[in-house]
Amino acid sequence: MSARSSPIYDCVLRLKAVDAHEHLLPEQERLSVTPDVVWLFHQYSLRELRCAGMSESDAQAVMDLSVSLHKRWRIFKPFYESIKHTGCAQGVLCAMKDLYGCGDLNDKTYVPVSEEIARQNKPGITDRFLGQKGNIAHILNCNYQYRQPVDYAHPIVSLNIAAVWSPKSVVKDVRELGRKHRVAVTDLDSYLELMGRVYADYRKHKVIGVKTTIFPPARTIDKRRASGHFARFWRGKSLAPDARSSLFSFLQDAAIGYAAQSDFTVAVHCGIGAGVNYDFTDQHVRHMIPLLLRHPGARFDLFHLGYPWMGEAIAIAQSFPNVSLNLCWCHANNPSVYERAIADLVGSVASNKILAMGGDIWRLPDVAYGYLKLARLGLARALSGCVSDGRLSSGEACALAEAWLNSNAFAIYPKLKLPA
Ligand SMILES: [Zn+2]
Repeated sequence: MSARSSPIYDCVLRLKAVDAHEHLLPEQERLSVTPDVVWLFHQYSLRELRCAGMSESDAQAVMDLSVSLHKRWRIFKPFYESIKHTGCAQGVLCAMKDLYGCGDLNDKTYVPVSEEIARQNKPGITDRFLGQKGNIAHILNCNYQYRQPVDYAHPIVSLNIAAVWSPKSVVKDVRELGRKHRVAVTDLDSYLELMGRVYADYRKHKVIGVKTTIFPPARTIDKRRASGHFARFWRGKSLAPDARSSLFSFLQDAAIGYAAQSDFTVAVHCGIGAGVNYDFTDQHVRHMIPLLLRHPGARFDLFHLGYPWMGEAIAIAQSFPNVSLNLCWCHANNPSVYERAIADLVGSVASNKILAMGGDIWRLPDVAYGYLKLARLGLARALSGCVSDGRLSSGEACALAEAWLNSNAFAIYPKLKLPA
């Protein structure tokens, strides 16, 4: 019996699963371009291409669909050769093979596979690749809007109704939001009233969770001081960096309060992201701890296993009842870390606190399919390892897979209703 025909592979690969994190946009966004194979490497593989030495201007040219495919392929190919074994690229290659019938990307195949990709770029692409071919029953979809690409994608929107970065754009955005919700924002109190109305709107539109990114802890301030900072900010005056981060933290705490009252799970990006040349230690998972101590009544789903700080993410899940670990994107970011972590998680974290996979993709349902397929294979391999070394029986491994790939999502995101 080959490994892939074992009962564990069978249940992990065939299970109707919950895709625990995407950013999939309404399909029109994808259908409005004529995609080709090089373009499929945008988003995460672009980070690997840049780190392999591709210049920023070449990276822009390579992903610019108005430039000829032949020209872009010539720039892309030498860097592709360096990144093709990375998890992010492997996900694209898996999509190419399973969905477009191309098992090897080279000088002879890049044109025909591109034609096939363009040919299949038709309405229904999300359901064809994820629902039907990918066996996905629900998508927890953080596209920050109510409109969804399929009826089994459930909206996750922004925790913070406006980010406190550039006063100009925030004031403009908040005024617009205020007009929509009939609140004239003039001070902190009216801003908080607006926040309450926005959250009521979220509830009306079947939102299941809200998303944010972790940042280093700021000095906590009381409402009086926050009102002073807000007034200054609202008048367009600059705030000192620590005042700005304290105000942001105050507003974020208020939003977490609304999220908890609304029974929305707070999804948090932890660890490295898709960019290059930035200080990703700002997103260290340990920065969650002060937030968790302040909000024992809210529910937090920590993303990406905190990569590269998996040990600390696991310890946090072991120490806080209101934390779950979402392994989305971790399986593409570093597949062998993902597989090794499975055995760690089996032996350390309560099994109802894990979500095993999510593609974390915006416009590429095909690549999301590839990421999820490779995640399932990694999970099956890791759980099979736990069976061979006697830590789990086959039945227990399959039960864990079912929980991690499906049923846990309904408890971790209670607004996601179990099918009747
Ligand atoms: Zn994401």
